[in-house]
Amino acid sequence: MLDNRSIQLSLQSKGLYRGRLDGIIGPQSEAAIAAAVFQVAGSKARTWSKARQRLALEQLILKESGFNPGAIDGLIGPNTLNALEQWQNHLRDVHPPVAAVVHQPTVFPRQRDVPAFFGEPGKHQVMLDLPFKMKLAWDTTKVIGRFSVHEKVRDSADQAFKAILQHYGEIRIKELGLDMFGGCLNVRKMRGGQSMSMHSWGIAIDFDPARNRLRWGSNRAQMAKPEYSAFLDIWESVGWISLGRERNYDWMHVQAARL
Ligand SMILES: [Zn+2]
Repeated sequence: MLDNRSIQLSLQSKGLYRGRLDGIIGPQSEAAIAAAVFQVAGSKARTWSKARQRLALEQLILKESGFNPGAIDGLIGPNTLNALEQWQNHLRDVHPPVAAVVHQPTVFPRQRDVPAFFGEPGKHQVMLDLPFKMKLAWDTTKVIGRFSVHEKVRDSADQAFKAILQHYGEIRIKELGLDMFGGCLNVRKMRGGQSMSMHSWGIAIDFDPARNRLRWGSNRAQMAKPEYSAFLDIWESVGWISLGRERNYDWMHVQAARL
């Protein structure tokens, strides 16, 4: 499937979307998707589900990019799958992934530049107030409403938590274990390594460690399931990365530093 930022970029170029290129498909993006699809598929598209409308838009983008997906009908068939594969190869071979590079906020440094950018481990900490309550993963009788983060990541983390609440709502957050706090600031070496953990600066957050163990890959980690992809998209949209997505281990962990 096409990534959310490519979708928003296409909608923007059609003059249908004026919101941020944040990779979050909210009501504004959804309305723009619907409008774009009606233009090509006609009024019958009004009865289509959001998922079908989105796929129809992806087909349109593929067609406009020179990859033939067949009919713009929002249905997966061999032509669409073939066009998607060609699109992905094209992104990999011809360009760097434009959507990921250009539209993702890049204020955060690479890991090796973290000490220069964030300063001394454990310093420059501020409190991040959470828009929903979390439980300590190691003592679930303890509820927290805030925790300590580096001052340079607070605003982005604040944005992410608010977007998570808006997208999932409190009930779903609990069901998915996104309220299970596995730790943030912790001055220590990386597990099994010599360099400092990103947690040493308060720029990494762990979620639901019991169901996302360090060495588990996407076949076992809860966070690799599709219902968590919006959660990880949100972190990426504020410039953080998921180790699970990048390296397929430590799925509990998001951080404000590139690899
Ligand atoms: Zn971690």
